[in-house]
Amino acid sequence: MNSSILTSLPTELAGGKTQGVRPADSPIVNRPFSHSSLSTYEQCPARFQFAYIDRITKPYEGIESFVGRRVHEALQFLYEEVTSGRLPLFDAVAEFYSDCWNEKYYDGVKVIKRRFSVGHYFNMGRDCLNRYYRKHQPFDQPVEETEYTMVFKLDENDDFEMKGILDRLDDLGNGRWEIHDYKTSSRAMSQADADRNRQLALYQIGVQKELEEVKSMSLVWHFLQQGEEVRSERTPKQLENLKRRIRNLVTDIKAATAEGGPFEPVETPLCNWCFYWEECPAKSGHNPVVKRGLSA
Ligand code: SF4
Repeated sequence: MNSSILTSLPTELAGGKTQGVRPADSPIVNRPFSHSSLSTYEQCPARFQFAYIDRITKPYEGIESFVGRRVHEALQFLYEEVTSGRLPLFDAVAEFYSDCWNEKYYDGVKVIKRRFSVGHYFNMGRDCLNRYYRKHQPFDQPVEETEYTMVFKLDENDDFEMKGILDRLDDLGNGRWEIHDYKTSSRAMSQADADRNRQLALYQIGVQKELEEVKSMSLVWHFLQQGEEVRSERTPKQLENLKRRIRNLVTDIKAATAEGGPFEPVETPLCNWCFYWEECPAKSGHNPVVKRGLSA
């Protein structure tokens, strides 16, 4: 890896994407918010309450999440090898992916879409890597960081922090930078959706607080199932508007938390990927996929 010009984080903040970073009794308002936690509140306040206020953990996850993390690990391995002066064959990347899958697979990984098997998802992840490998070898992109964790304030006088984990940050030189994000989703994002996407624009705000000179910043999504790349940029005014919208949302969350709610359930098809059915007032019993035992 290139010698980083970004600020190093304490080790307790530099863990994987699903690891807690603060003591379990720390209230949500004193912990960093993330794009993911804000999205959860927007989609279903009840789910936000269970996950981020009550901090109820469940021994389940959807297989889409599991395969996404294995693919991210394999791409990180690939770039670590390249920046160490070794260009691994695709077989070595596929073997790393397979080893991680076998080592980390557990009964709580649930297949929600009944028409697909676990093997389907394993092959889908490997195909994503194969497609990416063929398209981007010999991986001479100017990689500055991979899987980089940031905790930052939108502005210094804000009373809350944001957290983000960049998949990859490239330094093109002369103040030109790119933030890259890998997606294993079944559909690629439209240009219009990319132009209003919050996640990478938020990361741009965080990165720009750590860099001395930014003349341009491109936001790049790699849709690995489709082999498509989508790019976008933000103006300073758009970033200021984003900060304002995030502040308003955090203010709403803090007010609801201080008042003890209400955190209303919002039923959507995303309920199929939610494992808080026992706690949810809109549901009864377990998420059916838990009962079906489709993890094998
Ligand atoms: S089951 Fe649906 S409505 Fe209930 S908490 Fe989960 S996402 Fe919200």
